[in-house]
Amino acid sequence: MQLEDIISPFDGRVVGQVPVTRAPEIESIITKSVKAADLWRHTPAHIRSAVLLKAAALADERSEEIAQIISSENGKSLLEARGEASRSGEIIRLSAFEGSQLYGSTLPLDANKGTGLEKLGFTLRQPVGVVVAISPFNYPALLVLHKIAPALAVGNSVVLKPARATPLTAIALAKCFTDAGLPEGVLQVVHGAGSELGNALVTDSRVRKISFTGSTATGAQISSVAGIKKLSLELGSSCPVIVMDDADIDFAADAVALGGYINAGQVCISVQRVIVHEKVMANFLDALKPRVEAIKVGDPKSAETKVGTLISETEAIRVEKSIAAAVSDGATLLTGGARTGTIIKPAIVCGVNPKSAFAQDELFGPAIAVSSTTGITDAIAIANDSPYGLGAGVFTQNMDNSIQIARELDAGSIHINWTPLWRADLMPYGGLKSSGIGKEGVRSTVNEMTEEKTIILHGRSWQ
Ligand code: NAP
Repeated sequence: MQLEDIISPFDGRVVGQVPVTRAPEIESIITKSVKAADLWRHTPAHIRSAVLLKAAALADERSEEIAQIISSENGKSLLEARGEASRSGEIIRLSAFEGSQLYGSTLPLDANKGTGLEKLGFTLRQPVGVVVAISPFNYPALLVLHKIAPALAVGNSVVLKPARATPLTAIALAKCFTDAGLPEGVLQVVHGAGSELGNALVTDSRVRKISFTGSTATGAQISSVAGIKKLSLELGSSCPVIVMDDADIDFAADAVALGGYINAGQVCISVQRVIVHEKVMANFLDALKPRVEAIKVGDPKSAETKVGTLISETEAIRVEKSIAAAVSDGATLLTGGARTGTIIKPAIVCGVNPKSAFAQDELFGPAIAVSSTTGITDAIAIANDSPYGLGAGVFTQNMDNSIQIARELDAGSIHINWTPLWRADLMPYGGLKSSGIGKEGVRSTVNEMTEEKTIILHGRSWQ
């Protein structure tokens, strides 16, 4: 068995090893998953729920250990990693609850012309069967749990392929489930390059559901080869935030200084485009600059560090080059942007042409692109001028602006007086346009990981 080293993006230390799965092994892994799906589906919901609740308690108990793993392999600050790990137990508990709520509905068949009372119709939800879950590196615990916990809660088996850079968190979480009594084979974790394993996983006709979170390019590749199966795609973005002339400027600056830089900007709902009313541009930048300069970057394990590394030096160089290209296109670097290894100083880039690559392409780094607007209708047009539509935010005190935004802005989540970088694990979450298909958020995922059957009992009339 070949082992692969997992490397700290901060100092290149080997932080763990994982056995590598090869593409020809996927066939037997899915065969095992098919058998396990049959067993788990026939396990009553209250027993499944008890296993999940035990797994949640173990995830709570192991929260610090999981946080250390996240920070080591992903490079995010321990502060952020602790926040992420601490949500694990709750996501599993929410899933255990939703998994025990698979209600159907009774159908009023006698309202169909010619049908009497002799027939009885209802709907029944059942697990899809084998789920393939593919997750990215940026939230190695949350984005894994948002797939596997609801999938297992409703009685599916799962083959999980975490990001190649961050498999150790996935292994630690999977152990919570197996230690809680999840039967062998119901959850299998495979490791290796998505480019090698991806096709074997997503094209197998025994797989009924693919739940993918990652880049739009990989999502497009998966949807082109997946065939007939249920597909959830949580993809890329370039999230806008609008700051209107009636906004509370200090409050907006506080929120943008968080929303643009958490996890070194490697968040699908990170603030990327900041569209500021021209009347308050100077005040807003004056308020924002010191806040961004105060963000302490550095060693992820240091207690003072707020924001850690990018996932690799290659990624950090890509972000550094994007900032430099924006500046050579005529934008102004107000602060930040310097790179040391995998760390980039949080940057504000002003006067960005909203049509330029720096605004349009997903940056996935610690920088924001500031552009100006003349009013709410213009701001919405700029915000919507993007291939993506995941999250958006607006800062305004005006109810009419808020309602216009809610109705006219094309984004899966819209935050009035906050940035898109906010998520409750129970809320529907997913993008429009090239940001994806389907919704996550535990109740929505339960829906997407089950199938509805219509049952009709054809009785004889007793009248
Ligand atoms: P990525 O390169 O697309 O990788 C995501 C996952 O897909 C990884 O496990 C990867 O494996 C795997 N993969 C790669 N090629 C594949 C193929 N041909 N078939 C099947 N799977 C394949 O994305 P990333 O760089 O890890 O993550 C960043 C992206 O995720 C950003 O675009 C971000 O916006 C998006 N994201 C979206 C959301 C959301 O909710 N909308 C949330 C978080 C992140 P390897 O690691 O082995 O390459």
